Amino acid sequence: MTSIQTDPIEKIARIQWLELQKQLLYLQKNSGFYKKLFKEHKIDVSKIKTEADLKLIPITTKEDLQRYNEDFICIPSEEIIDHVTTSGTLGSPVNFALNEADLERLALNEMQSFELIGVKKGDKVQITTTLDRRFIAGMAYFLGLRKLGAGIIRTGSGMPHLQWDSIARFKPNYLVAVPSFLLKMIEYAEANGIDYKNSSIKAAMCIGEPLRDQNFELNALGRKIKELWPIELFSTYASTEMATAFTECKYHTGNHIQPELIYTEVLDDAGNPVKIGEIGELVITTLQVQTMPLLRFATGDLVSYTNEVCKCGRNTKRLSPILGRKKQHIKFKGTSLYPQHIIDVLMGFDAVSNFIVIVQKDDMGMDSLLIKISKSISDMDLNNLKQHFQAQLHVIPKIALVNDEKINNFKNPLGSRKPVMFLDLRN
Ligand SMILES: [Zn+2]
Repeated sequence: MTSIQTDPIEKIARIQWLELQKQLLYLQKNSGFYKKLFKEHKIDVSKIKTEADLKLIPITTKEDLQRYNEDFICIPSEEIIDHVTTSGTLGSPVNFALNEADLERLALNEMQSFELIGVKKGDKVQITTTLDRRFIAGMAYFLGLRKLGAGIIRTGSGMPHLQWDSIARFKPNYLVAVPSFLLKMIEYAEANGIDYKNSSIKAAMCIGEPLRDQNFELNALGRKIKELWPIELFSTYASTEMATAFTECKYHTGNHIQPELIYTEVLDDAGNPVKIGEIGELVITTLQVQTMPLLRFATGDLVSYTNEVCKCGRNTKRLSPILGRKKQHIKFKGTSLYPQHIIDVLMGFDAVSNFIVIVQKDDMGMDSLLIKISKSISDMDLNNLKQHFQAQLHVIPKIALVNDEKINNFKNPLGSRKPVMFLDLRN
């Protein structure tokens, strides 16, 4: 194991804090956006020595990043190598950039992520996500695996036939995949007589969609995959802005933080740190980033954390899966929900083959929920589904039966890196 992850907790904290102070001085010197912010708020970064001091620095928002995008760039433009965009889950995509050192840092982060799930030199990993489309992660997987010395098969996204052909040819033992795509691969294998249960694949590193709930149990999607294809499923959580992935180890009890690469805070609505196990918004400060470092950036993602020592021997904090996105909070008939709750119910219901969840404002300005599902469902199953909603969420959303084609048009918009299962039409 490389990294400082198995060092004593105090040593990890000391190293992390040193990196944080280095990053603060770097921002003071090189970042147009943060220079201005420090000046306006009379912040002397050399005096930031404790968590309490750090709290004096205002939060950076997604809107800041969108509005003052170029002011975040700390290096001359000719030093930029990789130009990418954010996923745009909560708005339009934002430009991001990386230089040579950032790509090296990304490789280190991803190498350590693969080590977390047990990949070694000699293993082969098939990357079933896109490597292009301005996507930071596809390149990160390649760089991380290269650094680790593992074998790589770059099949790219979609094309189940090419995935299975590559598995037959190269015998990879790991996949990198969006979980719902694993279901597509299983469907294709079943339809084409491929003996997928005895393939070379033993595990998948999953991105883009949560696989587990707050108690680290598999959610409906995770269970569905595992029942059909009993490979080991690992969650990761990452974003372009964070330029860092958090990955779970073989004990599956949260996504390990790589403390030399990122500083994390989990804050309540008033900006105070939440207690262990409580839910708050993840606020991050990237460490060792040169091109577009972010300081106290509010991700909008709701998580909890634990710092119990992990059985794997790493003494690093671990984050829960994303439990919701702050902006996607839904108040429906007095019940507080996040899209993931609804998606979980639908995913756990076999008679629903295809769906999309839509939230909009009604005439009274209240949140209303509409679920479009494939009209292949029987009346009995539809009734059961409603009862299922009542039992699990205590509310029954409006359900419309439509053609698969209509759902698929929504689900796979041009350029999307994963299927869209939730549409927010409130703004
Ligand atoms: Zn662990």
